[in-house]
This record gives sequence, C-alpha cells and structure tokens, in this order.
Amino acid sequence: MTEEPESAYECQLEADRLRALRRYEVLDTPPEESFDRITRLVQAVLQTPIALVSLLDESRQWFKSCQGLDVRETPRDISFCTHAIRNDEPLIVEDALNDARFAKNPLVVNDPNIRFYAGVPLHTPDGYRLGTLCAIDRQPREISPAQLAVLQDLARIVVDELELRSIARIDPLTGLMTRRSFDLDTAKEVARYKRYGSALTCIKLDLDHFKAINDTFGHAGGDAVLREIGLILKSAFREADVVGRLGGEEFCIALAETKPERARIIAERIRAKIEGREIPYQGEIIKVTASLGVAGITQQDQAFADIIGRADSALYKAKTDGRNRVVAFPF
Ligand code: GH3
Ligand code: MG
Ligand code: MG
Repeated sequence: MTEEPESAYECQLEADRLRALRRYEVLDTPPEESFDRITRLVQAVLQTPIALVSLLDESRQWFKSCQGLDVRETPRDISFCTHAIRNDEPLIVEDALNDARFAKNPLVVNDPNIRFYAGVPLHTPDGYRLGTLCAIDRQPREISPAQLAVLQDLARIVVDELELRSIARIDPLTGLMTRRSFDLDTAKEVARYKRYGSALTCIKLDLDHFKAINDTFGHAGGDAVLREIGLILKSAFREADVVGRLGGEEFCIALAETKPERARIIAERIRAKIEGREIPYQGEIIKVTASLGVAGITQQDQAFADIIGRADSALYKAKTDGRNRVVAFPF
C-alpha cells in the first residue's frame, strides 16, 4: 500500500512539505504538556484508547504526543497518516477490515490491531500538511459530527502551538535566536561538553554607546544598526554555532568545539568588521563599535549561564578599558 509520489511535481511538493516540517524544529523533541493535554482531550471526547499528534517525516511517522501506545514512531509506508495528509478533509475509517486500503495493513493485522481511525490533517498557515491529530480504536466504531468538529478544532490548536513556538524562537528584528531558544540550544551544548569533553566557548557582545545612536538617529535608526549586526553575526558563524540576541543591544555566541584562544581571534575579526561597517540610514551613515568578552567552559560549570557570567566580566573590563575591544577571561 506504499504509494510513492509519482510525478516530479509531487516530489517537489513533498520536499517543500518536509522543509516546512523541519522549520518547526519539533521532530525528536521531548513530550510536552501542551500537546499531551490535547491528545488526552481527544481520548475523552472520542472515547478512544489511542490518540496521537503524528508528524510525517521522510520515512517515519513520529509522535509529538502519544496516548495509549508505547512507541514514539512507526515506519511511514504503513501509516494511516500518510493517507490522511493527501487531502484537506479528515480521513475516517470506521472499520479497517472493511477497507481495501487498510485491511492487510500490519498495524491492522498485528499489534496495535487498529480497526477505527479518525485523522485530521495538521495544516500550516502556508498550506502544508505536517501530519495529523488522530484517534484510534481497536474496535470498529463511528464518529459523530460533533466529535469530528472537536477533533478539527483541536487539530487547529496543535498547529497554533507549533506556530507560537517557532515565533518565540526567532527575534524578528535581527533574525537571530531569541533568549529562550538560545538557552535551550546552549543547554544541549553544555550536555555535549559533559559527555564528550569537547571545547565550548562563549563570546558576549555589547554595542558601545548605543543609547547615543538612538538619541541621534531615533529608535528606527538604532533598529537599522541592530539589523545590520544581525547580518554580520549570521555571516560570521558556522551552522553549529549558536547565535542569539539576548536583549537590547546584547548578543551572545556559543562556539561549539572551539577553544577560547581561537574564539578570541574570531571575536577580534567581528569587532573589526563592526567598526568598519558603514550603515546607511535615511541618507546618512551610522557607525558603531562593540565591546566583546570571551570565556571558555570549565569543569565546574553547571549551565551555560556560568560561562556567560565570566564572558560578562571580560566584557565589563573591555568597557572600562575604553570600549571597541576584545577581552578574554581570565584577564
Ligand atoms: P555602553 O557602551 O556602556 O554599553 O552604553 P550603551 O548606551 O550602549 O548602553 P545602555 O545600556 O545605557 O543603553 C542601551 C540602549 O539600547 C538603551 C535602549 O534604549 C536601547 N535599546 C534596547 N533595545 C532596543 C531596540 O530593540 N531597539 C533600539 N533602537 N534600541 C534599543
Ligand atoms: Mg551597550
Ligand atoms: Mg547593554
């Protein structure tokens, strides 16, 4: 019953859909209460033992939330959801044994012995179907129009949750990570350090006399500067590095597998780039400088905030020494 995409057009659509799914950065994340709450509601309203938020990855369906099943994923080619996302409409299978598409499906014939399936596609605002919110029973059954309406509303809530998470991850002004996602990603880097002992270094950057730029060019002029700093930082770092705007005119970079000596050279390069950049704004040119502090991880560190603390004290020294410079900890 595997139906591979047939045409080049369908392949392209599927590639676009997978890209849309990846943008949410949800695959293989831990269970979260806001999604589990929704699947519990599906169980309660439809009276089914199994309810899932299922996302269709390239070759598997992966469950962001899963009630009543022990697995977190199953192969994609046997999944009901693969069928459900072909259409905008919900897929309702009242008795899988009476449905030629599913009667011989291993999930029907063997454990978990699916007989009833109701799945509503998870539609993104830009028109992709990421997966389904679905209810499953081991008995054949029917679904009432009122129950289906609830399932459809809950599917919209699932997508809203995914959207809110992705909005909260990216700072709209600079396109860099927000503090929230910076904290989540750097926690992973610290865990990697604890496991493998690989180097990890922090660069903290604060623009110099930024208040004066706002005072001279207005808040919008200041924003133009912040946007430009976002571009400089994005082009200066590798994919593996974590680059965030922690607030105001403060930025922080976590450099994976990089020792402080090397990070110091990178920080110096960024300082020079910012100093040399002429930022056009309403027919004028804005110039800005930055101070940077550098600090590496130590065995005593429990969280990335501990490293930021030392990078901050190096940054403070850079400020008091006259700004527009890089100071590495210890100094
Ligand atoms: P220092 O060299 O000591 O860092 O001086 P500074 O003026 O850069 O530092 P201060 O902390 O006094 O001022 C930071 C300013 O950044 C104050 C605040 O109004 C401005 N700011 C914070 N967030 C934004 C923003 O999103 N846009 C703009 N345009 N300004 C912002
Ligand atoms: Mg400042
Ligand atoms: Mg500041």
